Amino acid sequence: MEIEKYISQLNDAQRAPVLQKDGPMIVIAGAGSGKTRVLTMRIAYLMSQGVDAFNILSLTFTNKAAREMKQRIAGIVGNSEAKNLWMGTFHSVFAKILRFEADKLGFPSNFTIYDTQDSVRLISAIIKEMQLDKDVYKPKQVLNRISSYKNSLITVRAYFNDQELQEADAMSKKPRMGDIYQNYVDRCFKAGAMDFDDLLLRTNELLNRFPEVLAKYQERFKYILVDEYQDTNHSQYLIVRALSDRYQNICVVGDDAQSIYAFRGANISNILNFQKDYDDVQMYRLEQNYRSTKNIVEAANSIIEKNKTRLEKVVWTANDEGHKIKVHRSLTDSEEGRFVASTIFEEKMHNQLLNGQFAVLYRTNAQSRAIEDALRKRDIPYRIYGGLSFYQRKEIKDVLAYLRLVINPKDEEALMRVINYPARGIGGTTVEKLTVAANHYGRSAFEVMENLDRIDLKLNSGTKNKLQDFVTMIKSFQVLNETHDAFYLAEHVTKKTGLVQELKKDATPEGIARIENIEELLNGIKDFTEGQIEVDGARGALSEFLEDVALATDLDKETGDDDRVALMTIHLAKGLEFPYVFVVGMEEDLFPSAMSMNTRSELEEERRLFYVALTRAEKQAYLTYAQSRYRWGKLVDSEPSRFIEEIEGTFLEHLTPADSGYRYKPMINADIFGDVDKSKLRQTKPVSGTPPKWVTDNEPKPDLNIRRLKPLTGKAPQSSTPAMPDSKLAQGNVVMHERFGRGKVLNIEGIGADKKAEIHFEVGGVKKLLLRFAKLDVI
Ligand code: ATP
Ligand code: MG
Repeated sequence: MEIEKYISQLNDAQRAPVLQKDGPMIVIAGAGSGKTRVLTMRIAYLMSQGVDAFNILSLTFTNKAAREMKQRIAGIVGNSEAKNLWMGTFHSVFAKILRFEADKLGFPSNFTIYDTQDSVRLISAIIKEMQLDKDVYKPKQVLNRISSYKNSLITVRAYFNDQELQEADAMSKKPRMGDIYQNYVDRCFKAGAMDFDDLLLRTNELLNRFPEVLAKYQERFKYILVDEYQDTNHSQYLIVRALSDRYQNICVVGDDAQSIYAFRGANISNILNFQKDYDDVQMYRLEQNYRSTKNIVEAANSIIEKNKTRLEKVVWTANDEGHKIKVHRSLTDSEEGRFVASTIFEEKMHNQLLNGQFAVLYRTNAQSRAIEDALRKRDIPYRIYGGLSFYQRKEIKDVLAYLRLVINPKDEEALMRVINYPARGIGGTTVEKLTVAANHYGRSAFEVMENLDRIDLKLNSGTKNKLQDFVTMIKSFQVLNETHDAFYLAEHVTKKTGLVQELKKDATPEGIARIENIEELLNGIKDFTEGQIEVDGARGALSEFLEDVALATDLDKETGDDDRVALMTIHLAKGLEFPYVFVVGMEEDLFPSAMSMNTRSELEEERRLFYVALTRAEKQAYLTYAQSRYRWGKLVDSEPSRFIEEIEGTFLEHLTPADSGYRYKPMINADIFGDVDKSKLRQTKPVSGTPPKWVTDNEPKPDLNIRRLKPLTGKAPQSSTPAMPDSKLAQGNVVMHERFGRGKVLNIEGIGADKKAEIHFEVGGVKKLLLRFAKLDVI
C-alpha cells in the first residue's frame, strides 16, 4: 500500500493524530488547517493497519463531504475496501440504524421521515383541533420549541415531570405547549413517522433502553470519527459518547471559532468537556493554514480575536501574501449584484478562471435574488444551494407524497396532502371525519379508510366509494412496487393519479415549469435506479430513494460537474473552500443580523459566522455592502457592518470611497473644510458610527476644526470630523438622526470632544449622544 506516500505529505502536527491508532483524541484547530484531511488520512491509515472498514464510523456535516472523503480514501486503499465504510451525517447514519431496529421502538421499518414542512403542517392541524389561537401558538415557533426539547432529550414524560419547563411555557403564554407536544409525538407515532430530531432522540432511546443493541453497535463501530465536532448538539453528543464508551477509539476534530449552530442547539461545551469524558485524551493542535493567503488568514485572525469566549489558537500560513481583501460599497442591492457579476466576469477574463472557482456567500437566503438577477444578465451560470430546495416544491412534494404512501400508507402528512389532489370529490368534512375517527381508534386515517365497512362515518355511498377507490389505487401501486423499480413506479404514479394532467391545465410559464420539474424528478429517480444497479447489483428501491430525498441537504444533490458560480448562505459553506469568495450584504442589522445582536454571545456567534465566511477564500475575498436595500418589500437604509471595521485596516483595500455622504448635507463637509481644494483630498476607510472623513495627505490643519479620533492601537491615527459642528447645535433644535429619526435637542452639556446632546426622539424617547459620533442634521 502506498499509504506512506500520503502520510509523508502531512506536516508533523497533522501526522501525529493520524498515526495514533487507538484511544480518545481531539484535534482543535483553526480554519483550513487540515482537520478534515487528518480525518480522511486517519481512516486510510487505520485500514492500512488492518482495521476492517466495517468497524469504522465517520460522521460528517454533509453527505457530500462524506462521499468526497470516501472517494479520497478509495483512491488510497481501493474501491472495494472503501465501500464498506460507514460515513454520512448523523441523521443519515442513524436513520439507517433505526430502520434495522425500528420494531424495538414500535415503529415500522419503513417509517417515513417528516421534513420541516410536514411537521409544521401537522402542528398547525393540532393547534386548530385543540382550538388554540395560532397567533399565540405560532406553528413554526412551537416546532422550534419541540425541537429544542427533543435535542435536549426532554421527552413528553420528562416535560410533564419538569415543573420549571411547564412554568416557563406558561409564562410565555403557552400553557398548552406540553399537550401540543404530546399530541404531536402521538400523531407521528401513529403515522409511522419520525421527524429530523426524532432520528437522534430515538437513537438515544434505542441505545439507552436496549443494552444489547448498544453493545452490538459499540462492537461494530470500534473506531469513530467526527468532523465539525463544535456543531454537535446534546443529542448527537450523547450518541457519540455511548457508542464510543467501550473502545474509546474516538477522534473528533473541530474549531470552536467556527461554532455557528448554537441557535439549533449546538453546544460548544461538547468541545470543552471532551477531555473530561474520556480517560487520557490526547489533544492535538494544528496551526498551519494551507487554504488561504497570508492576508486572508491574518485578517480572519484579527476578527476572531474580538471574541471573548474562545480558545487561544495560532493560525499562520506559509502561503503568499496575496491581495488585500477588497471592500466595495454600492448604493443599492441591485448595484451590489451588478458589482459581483461584473467582477466575476472580469476576473474570469483576465485570469482564465472557471465559474466554479467563485462563491457568493450571504447571511440570509433572500439576498440571493439581486445576485441572481445580475448574474443572469451577464450570462454567468450559477447554482443556488439551500433556499427552497427542489424537493420542497409543491409539485414535487405532491408526487413524493404518493410515493411515500406506497411505502407507508399510515403516513398522515402524505395522505392529507394528496387525498383530494388532484380533486376527486373528497371534501374537508370527510377528511375531518376521518381524522376524528383515526384519533378515536388510535389508528391512522388510511386504516380507517380500509375499514369503512366496519366503521360507520355516516358518509353517503358516493363519498364512501371515492375513499375506497383511493385505497384501491394506493394498493395497486404497492403491488407494482413489489416487482418494479422506483422509476417505473414513479412514472406510473404521475400518470395514474392524474397529477400531470392536472398541471397541464395551467399553460402559464409557471405551470410549464412545474411539469418540467416533475420530469426532472423522474430523471433523478432514473439516475438513482441505474446507479443502484451499478453499485449493488440490486434494483433501486423506492424506499431508499425516499430516504435519500428526506435526508439530503441541498449540498448533497450536486449533479454532474457543470461549471457554475456557487451561491449559498454562510452556514451552508462551512468546511468548503473556493479561490474567490464574495461575502455580500456586509451591513449592520443584516450581518450581524438584527435578531442576533441582543447579547454578547449572540454577537459572538455572528462574528464566528463571519470568520467562517472569510476563511472559505483561498486567493481573494470581497466584502460588499449596499447603502440601501429592499428588505421585506421596503427600501431600508443601512450602515456598513461593524465586522468590516473590525478587520485590521492593513488587510483591506477600499474599491469605493468610504461613504458617499449621501445621508449628510454636503454643506457639513464644505463648512468644515472651508476653501480646501477637494481634489487634494482622499477618503479614508469607513468607520461605522462616524461620518465620512475627508483628510488631506498631510496632517489636517488645526484651524480646520478637525478633531482627531483617539488612535486605535496598531492603526494609523485617523482624523475625523464631527458630524455637527459644535456651534451649529443648540437647545431647541429639531434634528434628524439616521437611526433614531426626528428628535428635539433638550440640552447640551460637556465641552470639546465630550460634548453631548440630550435629544428627545419621536420614536425611542430621550437619548444622550456624544456629538463627536452622532450623525445629526439640523432640520
Ligand atoms: P475547515 O476548518 O474550514 O473545515 P479544515 O481544517 O478541515 O478546514 P481542510 O479542508 O482539511 O481544513 O484543508 C484545507 C485545505 O488545505 C485543503 O485544500 C487541503 O487539501 C489543504 N491541505 C491540508 N493539509 C495540507 C498539507 N499538509 N499539504 C498541502 N495541503 C494541505
Ligand atoms: Mg474541515
